[in-house]
Amino acid sequence: MLKVENLYVSYGAIQALQGISFVVNKGEIVTLIGANGAGKTTTLNALCGIVPAASGSIIFEDKNIGSMEAHDIVSLGITQVPEGRRVFADLTVEDNLNMGAYTRKDVSGIKQDIESVYERFPRLRERRKQPAGTLSGGEQQMLAIGRALMTRPRLMLLDEPSMGLAPLLVMEIFEIIQDLNKEGTTILLVEQNAHMALKIANRAYVLETGRIVLQGTAKELMESEDIQKAYLGG
Ligand code: ATP
Repeated sequence: MLKVENLYVSYGAIQALQGISFVVNKGEIVTLIGANGAGKTTTLNALCGIVPAASGSIIFEDKNIGSMEAHDIVSLGITQVPEGRRVFADLTVEDNLNMGAYTRKDVSGIKQDIESVYERFPRLRERRKQPAGTLSGGEQQMLAIGRALMTRPRLMLLDEPSMGLAPLLVMEIFEIIQDLNKEGTTILLVEQNAHMALKIANRAYVLETGRIVLQGTAKELMESEDIQKAYLGG
């Protein structure tokens, strides 16, 4: 579904990605793990056209999306749930969901999709007239996922969905990610919580200072001594 080859991204003199290559197959949950500053967010931002690639290619379903505009990439079926949720704090929950549909014009389809977001997240329905900034962290994460669902993504990029959430809520969010995947959404998940990410992923890549240093099935990585020492606290 997605094939990234030899991708380089720089911010001025800082080389954030130094030639990374990876694939995400349809139906998978793939996780990118790595320490602060390894280049995880940069990777997701390059995939959705927020930061430009210096070189390399990004192929999504046989189309080279490496130099496409962000809104065109969304229309193709790739949507990011950004780090820190980034909900529109002053807008209501419902208006945040409407903002998620900004690339669409099918009014009745948008209504239906808002309804299905509310079915998935009843707490959002109860709070639909409330400014998003007044929601708890977990509710804001649900809203960020709901807003992404409004684009009907086939590939969802999730950046640190567990950040700042209490353990029970982390479990809840990871269950939601698994449900979405079972329903047919392919997932690329960036996480510092490597333990949780490896538990739900099919495959994983480990990024260190802009390079992929290890890859394998989630099971292989969970059993790797290096990974246990570096990322799983054992
Ligand atoms: P974190 O988990 O802390 O978000 P990350 O793995 O997502 O880390 P990135 O945010 O992709 O890492 O950052 C990769 C490198 O690029 C870091 O050295 C970072 O300081 C640098 N970087 C990221 N964004 C910018 C920017 N807008 N301008 C300059 N440097 C940046």
